[in-house]
Amino acid sequence: MAKIPVGVLGATGMVGQQYIALLSDHPWFETRYVAASPRSAGKKYACASAGRWHLPQTYSPPVGELVLEDANDVSKALDAAKRGDCAFVFSALEMGKEETARLELAYAAAGIPVVSNASAHRWTEDVPMLIAEINPQHTDVIPIQRKNRGWDKGFIAVKPNCSIQSYMIPLYALLKAGYTIDRIIVSTLQAVSGAGYPGVPSLNVIDNVVPYIGGEEEKTEREPLKILGALRDRGIEAASAPRISAHCNRVPVINGHTACVSMEFGGKKPSIEEIKHIWASFTGAPQELDLPTAPRRPIHIRGEEDRPQPRKDRDADKGMAVTVGRLRPCQVFDIRFAALSHNTIRGAAGGGILNAELLKAKGFLD
Ligand code: NAP
Repeated sequence: MAKIPVGVLGATGMVGQQYIALLSDHPWFETRYVAASPRSAGKKYACASAGRWHLPQTYSPPVGELVLEDANDVSKALDAAKRGDCAFVFSALEMGKEETARLELAYAAAGIPVVSNASAHRWTEDVPMLIAEINPQHTDVIPIQRKNRGWDKGFIAVKPNCSIQSYMIPLYALLKAGYTIDRIIVSTLQAVSGAGYPGVPSLNVIDNVVPYIGGEEEKTEREPLKILGALRDRGIEAASAPRISAHCNRVPVINGHTACVSMEFGGKKPSIEEIKHIWASFTGAPQELDLPTAPRRPIHIRGEEDRPQPRKDRDADKGMAVTVGRLRPCQVFDIRFAALSHNTIRGAAGGGILNAELLKAKGFLD
């Protein structure tokens, strides 16, 4: 199968670099178009990313030779599409929310599908916010999106905030098994790479914990409800439960967001052993469709009393699995546990690529 040529918007950033690295040996997709801010436009990728490349792995030489375009100029991506170099784009842009929203709409209106990491369209009613193991059926909103907007080829699909995948996949596994979760209290311990590059000043975070990340608690509390929502005529209607209260903290960890979760069930309550069994056997559409980036087991369970830990567990199944541990009764709610996921892989570029694989498997990227 010939590889699908893709573009990466924001290719020089923390998430963009992760896209470039993960796509370098991807069996379906190949990076053939890169774009970033006007500051980087006109430079070869190797030159623009020199001195700020963060990853242990590198990219293939042809990617280093690609000349960055200004991501604000959709006509450049259209030219690339006409040359056969850009069938769709991954968006890893960090700019104003309204600017990002307008720009992503412009790409989609021009016929270039956008698989985005940005928050700009997460609450747009007819845009699916996907965690491929949880709500793959929300891709059914794409024909509605196209109809609402008069598009025939373009569309926007987004992934949620990086703080929520670690515990949403385990929580969803319990919902799928028939349990009801009424209330959740979650405290997140979020890595500095979650703030992009250069991100949090070192003097603010080394030897410190910052109990505030702008906008993060609202996203952590609200986004799960859209993911668990129902498809309606004009788009997706958010669910009304569970109620979530979040405390989001920035911690001096480079990669890997941890979440400490207490949950209260409605009705029947599972035992610890049942929960372990449900998590260990959980799979979703990515595993059933055998998508290339799908972790073989989405949820890894650690039995040690001091796991999961970012340094030891963030790379589980190439950074695509979430790791849970410390599963125990809660003295206030019913059950508590700790969960961890790699924020720039599962929570960003890897999750975006998995979404694109799902969209391809469902025929939206043909
Ligand atoms: P980042 O490291 O700051 O990178 C930002 C990228 O956007 C760079 O390529 C930058 O290009 C480009 N950019 C900045 N201003 C621009 C402009 N005015 N016009 C066009 N391009 C512009 O940020 P990041 O952490 O990779 O985050 C990227 C997106 O992913 C954000 O929307 C973020 O919320 C989301 N996200 C991040 C994470 C994470 O863990 N970091 C997780 C999930 C989602 P230059 O290099 O040329 O400045």
